[in-house]
Amino acid sequence: MSGSTYEIVIVGGNLGGVAVAHYLLKNTIPALRKQNNSKSFHVTIVSPSSHYFWKIAAPRVLVKGEEALYEQILRPIDKGFAKYGDLFAYIQGAAIATDPAARTIRVKKNDSQEESIHYDSLVIATGTTSATPLWTLHGDHLETLNALKTTREELSQAKTVLVAGGGAVGVESSGEIVTTFPNVKVTILSGTDRLLARSTESLGKAAETSLKKLGVEVIHNVRITGSEKTIDGHPKLKLSDGTERIVDVYIDGTGGAPNTDWLPAEWLNEGKRVQVDDESLRVTGPDASRVYAVGDAASYSKQSWLDTDSAVIPVASSIAVDIATTLNQGKAPSQGMLGSLLGYVPGFGSSLSQKKFSPMKGIFLVPMGPSHGVGMLMGFEIPTFMLSLIKGKSYFLSMSRTQWNGDAR
Ligand SMILES: Cc1cc2nc3c(=O)[nH]c(=O)nc-3n(C[C@H](O)[C@H](O)[C@H](O)COP(=O)(O)OP(=O)(O)OC[C@H]3O[C@@H](n4cnc5c(N)ncnc54)[C@H](O)[C@@H]3O)c2cc1C
Repeated sequence: MSGSTYEIVIVGGNLGGVAVAHYLLKNTIPALRKQNNSKSFHVTIVSPSSHYFWKIAAPRVLVKGEEALYEQILRPIDKGFAKYGDLFAYIQGAAIATDPAARTIRVKKNDSQEESIHYDSLVIATGTTSATPLWTLHGDHLETLNALKTTREELSQAKTVLVAGGGAVGVESSGEIVTTFPNVKVTILSGTDRLLARSTESLGKAAETSLKKLGVEVIHNVRITGSEKTIDGHPKLKLSDGTERIVDVYIDGTGGAPNTDWLPAEWLNEGKRVQVDDESLRVTGPDASRVYAVGDAASYSKQSWLDTDSAVIPVASSIAVDIATTLNQGKAPSQGMLGSLLGYVPGFGSSLSQKKFSPMKGIFLVPMGPSHGVGMLMGFEIPTFMLSLIKGKSYFLSMSRTQWNGDAR
């Protein structure tokens, strides 16, 4: 703690980081202040992109290519937090190292200057980076905006498209492309023996049937092993079955790698994700007191927005309980007695008590254009019209505003 201000640093300013920051600023910090107004709090987001990216709608926005849609999915972080005044700061840069003993992170700002930033609490929300900026931010948001615009232009001229990856992003993109550009021959490589490997076999089969009806060629058990450009600039892909394909547009829809290089290796699991306690989302490694992880970079997550969003309140509650312990100078009970902890702190209400993360299971919604797609809710497959109503019409675009400006909290 520097002076009387308690500093909460959130690294990663997108779906997870922005949601946690709003929740802390709107709910947790006012509640803490109400109980003990001698302490002040400050929240900082460190992230290389000045803009929030509602990536969930990227497969639709890619094919539509409308200026208004770009503005809806890419929104400036500072404006979304303006209402909190000097309780909040945004630093445009990437964390490059962590010193857990000193409780600092090293940040390389976008202007190449480096700076050490102190944290009292640290939230890791750095997500993953996909091969293409179409799906995740690659530094500045303009990279993603340019990729969306350029690829859209290429798609509008294309006769052949190859999509790699049979997960939701690959299936959605294939469906969006073929419904918007019906004359394009789209091929999807599932990379395994079926589509939607993270969902049920039955939903994977339904997705394959739907894509085939739309005219998409579905190929299993073949992966991309290399790519180059032909002399005239076309993507030339080497495939694991020994063949080659030259297409007009290649779209990599395979998953991303976790952005955790800046963290101590002892905090990571074998898959390079941050190892957390599955319920409290506290980081379990050495010297990781008051360090938390949320979203795709964390071990608890199945890399979905549902797992990211439903972790926001549990993470905020862990932060609140740990701050209460710190301010109460070590009178911390065991984790099983967290309820009792709040009894030690005069006036602490139940809104600051520990909440546990519990995953939302059996939800999978995969549109393929506005009127096609497959999905399940609570483990039951739903008819296409319902899928279209819930997600297919707009990919939850209206939520991009309330998630960005905190109204959703
Ligand atoms: C195209 C697409 C569609 C999707 N659709 C759905 C869906 O319909 N339903 C669903 O449940 N899930 C969906 N997902 C998954 C969902 O988007 C992710 O689970 C969610 O974005 C994870 O949030 P996050 O905050 O962990 O990571 P991200 O949203 O990726 O944010 C990570 C942030 O960290 C920043 N960052 C990276 N490295 C550093 C660093 N070193 N220092 C500082 N900042 C850094 C990045 O720039 C970024 O701002 C989709 C994903 C994609 C790609």
